Amino acid sequence: MGDSYQLVIIGAGPGGLCAATTAANLGLDVTVLDEQPSPGGQIYRGISNTPDDRLALLGADYQHGADLVEAFSASKANYWPQTNVWSLNSRRQIGILRHGQASIIQAERVIVASGAMERPVPFLGWTLPGVMYAGAAQILLKTAGVVPANGTVIAGTGPLPLLVAWQYLRAGVSVKAVLEFSPRSNLWRAAPHLPKALVAGDYISRGLKYTLDLNKGGVPIYYGISGLQAQGHDRIEAVEYGWDTLGSSRRETIVTNSLLVHFGVIPRINLTKSAGCHHIWDRGQQCWRPQVDKWGNTNVPGIAVVGDSAGIGGARSAEHSGRLAALEVARSLHTIDTQQRDLQGQEDLKWIGKDLRVRPFLEALYRLPDSLLVPPDDKTLVCRCEEISAGQIRQAVREGHADPDRVKFYLRCGMGPCQGRQCAPAVAQIVAAENLRPVSDYTTFRVRPPIRPLSIAQLANLGRAEE
Ligand SMILES: Cc1cc2nc3c(=O)[nH]c(=O)nc-3n(C[C@H](O)[C@H](O)[C@H](O)COP(=O)(O)OP(=O)(O)OC[C@H]3O[C@@H](n4cnc5c(N)ncnc54)[C@H](O)[C@@H]3O)c2cc1C
Repeated sequence: MGDSYQLVIIGAGPGGLCAATTAANLGLDVTVLDEQPSPGGQIYRGISNTPDDRLALLGADYQHGADLVEAFSASKANYWPQTNVWSLNSRRQIGILRHGQASIIQAERVIVASGAMERPVPFLGWTLPGVMYAGAAQILLKTAGVVPANGTVIAGTGPLPLLVAWQYLRAGVSVKAVLEFSPRSNLWRAAPHLPKALVAGDYISRGLKYTLDLNKGGVPIYYGISGLQAQGHDRIEAVEYGWDTLGSSRRETIVTNSLLVHFGVIPRINLTKSAGCHHIWDRGQQCWRPQVDKWGNTNVPGIAVVGDSAGIGGARSAEHSGRLAALEVARSLHTIDTQQRDLQGQEDLKWIGKDLRVRPFLEALYRLPDSLLVPPDDKTLVCRCEEISAGQIRQAVREGHADPDRVKFYLRCGMGPCQGRQCAPAVAQIVAAENLRPVSDYTTFRVRPPIRPLSIAQLANLGRAEE
């Protein structure tokens, strides 16, 4: 066993940064691990190195990250960039890969702030070169100023497609169309939540601004889209989709060599699952998440979860949940007492309460239909690593492999390099649909370390760093 640390925080996004700054300023010994080369997480990726012209292009929201990074850098928290966490267990032993060396460290307390990932939704042609996630494309823009040279189509649901289209418009990229997949009937389901959403902040007005700017910039936005397909031989050549208009349904095609897709974000749960934290199905967010109390505590002593990895709440709520978890750690280590924790956390709790009021509206507006979550076409590749199709998974269920883990053992889907990150949600959806049961009756695959790829040489050398 390697060195021992008082508080280890996994993730240097807004949640992890605020937890670290708060805990370090209270005098705790804090170590922050993150696979990225610089702090900021998904939303503020590359913020410390972004040139001014790109900063202006990405908008005021992005620039807010600079304040968080500045406060973090001024604190006494230790920061280990380019450090991959490949395991976490209930005894708070953390497997890390740093400078090419694998080791296991022990933490007295752990705060998991590993954020979210884009929801993988398999469709025909999604593995063709030229098809990528919109968030991943945005990372290229943030970190390297790279954009699709010949224009792009952006398809999916949620606020991010609009934001990326808007950022591209400002960067001079030709956005051929934004295809919005949430059904029109969602509008009626969302409408009752609008008044509360309006008091949460400027989320709705920002969404309207992006939409208006895109309209002014000549970017067509089509609503009520279904049946997405990427077509091409060696790479994407066209996007085909279904469009319901005035009671009739038709198929359209757009010629493009780039398609960006985004179907919302879901918590990264591999670490919390491997640590034995209890997870629940979140009906609103259509995903599993760890069960936490308002201080981020899980059922596993000494392990807390904050930010989007505890349930999608957005960047601002992530900041406040990070602070709350840090205060709770300080209380549990007797650095502050319960009264001080409650007093110092009051504003954060209020802030989160207000900020999260927008969520029921967004969740209803961008709720994904089952027709999208359960790939209808048997030929759709679901597990990209092991090349397993939706048809093979359905067949396995019919043959009696009735839950996701049994399908995994039988077909190997989820056993490739991504360890099921890309296929687990879809496999659970297919299994549930085949068994005519709600998806909440199942869990995603059992998680075993390493949750990130490690070479045999790195495993064999485990522990050499301490020697
Ligand atoms: C691709 C993507 C793009 C997004 N873009 C926007 C946007 O433009 N605007 C917006 O408002 N919201 C955006 N969001 C949502 C926003 O990122 C989150 O709401 C917010 O960042 C949550 O903060 P967090 O601290 O919980 O996690 P994050 O900011 O996601 O930070 C988590 C950090 O943990 C690290 N990490 C995760 N797992 C490991 C591991 N095993 N080992 C080491 N490090 C690890 C990650 O590299 C990351 O730096 C985006 C989300 C995604 C997934």
